Amino acid sequence: MRAAVLSKANQVDIRDFPEPSKTQDNEVIAKVEFVGVCKTDQQLTAAGLDKDCILGHEVVCSLPNQKGHFALNNEISCGKCSYCLEGLTSHCINLQELGVNEHGGYAEQICAPINSLHPFEFSNPSLGVLIEPLSCAVRGVKRILAGVNILATSRPKVLVIGGGISGTLITYLLNHSPNFKGEIKVYDITKEPLPWLNKLGIERIEVPEPNQAHVVVECSGSPGGLATALDLVRKGGLVCIYGVPKQGISLPISPHELFMREIAVVTSFAGATDETIAAAIASIKGDEAFFEQLLGRFIPLEKLPIELTNWSPQPGTRTVVDLDA
Ligand SMILES: [Zn+2]
Ligand SMILES: [Zn+2]
Repeated sequence: MRAAVLSKANQVDIRDFPEPSKTQDNEVIAKVEFVGVCKTDQQLTAAGLDKDCILGHEVVCSLPNQKGHFALNNEISCGKCSYCLEGLTSHCINLQELGVNEHGGYAEQICAPINSLHPFEFSNPSLGVLIEPLSCAVRGVKRILAGVNILATSRPKVLVIGGGISGTLITYLLNHSPNFKGEIKVYDITKEPLPWLNKLGIERIEVPEPNQAHVVVECSGSPGGLATALDLVRKGGLVCIYGVPKQGISLPISPHELFMREIAVVTSFAGATDETIAAAIASIKGDEAFFEQLLGRFIPLEKLPIELTNWSPQPGTRTVVDLDA
């Protein structure tokens, strides 16, 4: 089958690759339809892995003899370890992440456990690539709202840093959460237009001022974004690290300052579960027009290597690999 294979840092090749075969009874071979190109793919490509790997974890696929489309939960957890038993499946000690450390979706076929495939019905099935990132944002917002409980105000001013897909999904879910009573603004360091903000009626801040926000959600994944978040947040406030920070970077604040300003820090890592995926599917189903605008360019698999080595998605959108293109 055709596959995009990461062999070493910055080396992704389109190759003929052996078709996957089932190694366990609960697995199925699915036909890949669409895959969202995530910043994680770009970071993995830049870093390289110690074995040949097919990346791609935001996967829409179909099954032989079954109608409709399925979204993959790429986090395959064991269900037995102490983390799984607490529901922290993203921290499973036996975690397999398809498209991260096991073969994923940038190929014509993928092998996955049947219970990791979630059926959905959207009028545009390629919207299914947003299910995985949105399910992670469902978990992120749950953790942010838990953090809001320790604030002195129940109507916090929230600043979201980063208007990319992560910032968009977090903002959307917070804005739609019945448990959130505050106000949201968005700051993005670029001057790129963020048309989705208008659709949500949310203000964009050009120059953020300190001491305004009770909660700052860092969604850019940049060291500068994290420093800005910690600078801006009010005393007694909450910073959520949602964008994946680069490895090897320290928190740009001293423990003394963190303590004296009483800043709480919450993080949120991955988090696709049956529950968060169901919530993500329901959100997209209820507002397809909003999520449509987050789909960017559609490219054939052959264009993926260039996409991963010259990272330049249309701002605020997901580039989608269409396996049938
Ligand atoms: Zn992703
Ligand atoms: Zn486990």
